[in-house]
Amino acid sequence: MAMKEDLEKRIHTLAEWLYESRHLVVFTGAGISTESGLPDFRGPDGIWTRRDKGLSPKPMSRSWDSVEPNSGHIAIVDLQRMGKLKFLISQNVDNLHLKSGINPDLLAELHGNMTKLRCTRCGEKVDNYNGRTICGCGGKLVSSVVDFGEPLPERDLRLSFEHSRKSDLFVVVGSSLAVTPAADMPLEALRSGAKLVIINQGETPFDHLSNLRFSENIGNGLPMAVKRVKRLMGLFE
Ligand SMILES: [Zn+2]
Repeated sequence: MAMKEDLEKRIHTLAEWLYESRHLVVFTGAGISTESGLPDFRGPDGIWTRRDKGLSPKPMSRSWDSVEPNSGHIAIVDLQRMGKLKFLISQNVDNLHLKSGINPDLLAELHGNMTKLRCTRCGEKVDNYNGRTICGCGGKLVSSVVDFGEPLPERDLRLSFEHSRKSDLFVVVGSSLAVTPAADMPLEALRSGAKLVIINQGETPFDHLSNLRFSENIGNGLPMAVKRVKRLMGLFE
């Protein structure tokens, strides 16, 4: 089958699954943000790859503040507006999901958020631009970004596993699923009988378990599928 025809067929299938889903969980990694011009972490020039070699991150072509959500982020917000998205798990610290309009209650940021501080006593998160160093509870405010070897935030981890277990459709967007415990979440979903969709340009350890696989750019698949879901739901732009 011609590649383009095949892509259309897969978009069609994804749209139907999204439409029929009762507990959709989306899981995102750096790949969704590289399409906004952010550097990735594990690729050949990625931040962590370079750090392992003792190199500093490659300079960014623009500042973090000027980076905007792209069509992939917007597609996920659309799923939230349609009431389809039940939970979003992200490995990204770039704040683009919140910037795009995701409800913080539906979001787990497993590695923290570079625009937020975290209280070491009560766990509350506050914006880091207001210069506060002490929380209302008297606890100390520190960067919410999780470093290597540090435990992941408890609330985010717990909710991620809970929703993975409840999910009937688990869609991975732009993650190579290389790091645990994040990589355990699609397995939890599969064990509960969920369908697994992987949208990622590189290989993942779960490709052979996926029910639907996209290796194309995220922008070439997900937004089209979501547009189709809107039509299935009788919503028009
Ligand atoms: Zn506090």
